[in-house]
Amino acid sequence: TSIYIYILQSQFSNKIHSAKMEQTFIMIKPDGVQRGLVGEIIGRFEKKGFTLKGLKLVTVDRAFAEKHYADLSAKPFFNGLVEYIVSGPVVAMVWEGKNVVATGRKIIGATNPAESAPGTIRGDYAIDIGRNVIHGSDAVESGRKEIALWFPEGIAEWRSSLHSWIYE
Ligand code: ADP
Repeated sequence: TSIYIYILQSQFSNKIHSAKMEQTFIMIKPDGVQRGLVGEIIGRFEKKGFTLKGLKLVTVDRAFAEKHYADLSAKPFFNGLVEYIVSGPVVAMVWEGKNVVATGRKIIGATNPAESAPGTIRGDYAIDIGRNVIHGSDAVESGRKEIALWFPEGIAEWRSSLHSWIYE
């Protein structure tokens, strides 16, 4: 009986945890890669307690960058933005955790580094809006789309054994 109760309890707590779990698409842009910020940026998400579910270094072409930023196609900076994203390899990642979309945006900081708070990635490592080092999904739904676009092959299925040391 105690084994059965244990199984029930662990299934119950798994359900509670997974219900609150989100995924976000994070990309270290070409300037972040060129400037050697990959380890620093990954470290911030890792130390926070989020789980890395997908990771690759890729150089994308114009058509792909235009797809990723399709919502911004009418903006005057769109062409420059696409040129920036295709200018070198980027690190594409999927991070998972409770509220990871909103918290990830806080870790990243405001779009314009002139307004990003010190302590955020853009606040600490960027100056110009067109060289702001990192991208993070702005909502769960856009995250889902971006993950499908960047990781059509799928992402890793694993759960950190530190889970119960990070979540109550
Ligand atoms: P975020 O990346 O913070 O979600 P947006 O989706 O509004 O911000 O814009 C996407 C990216 O386009 C920004 O991260 C930045 O690199 C670039 N960008 C946004 N606004 C400007 C601008 N006014 N001039 C140049 N580049 C911009």
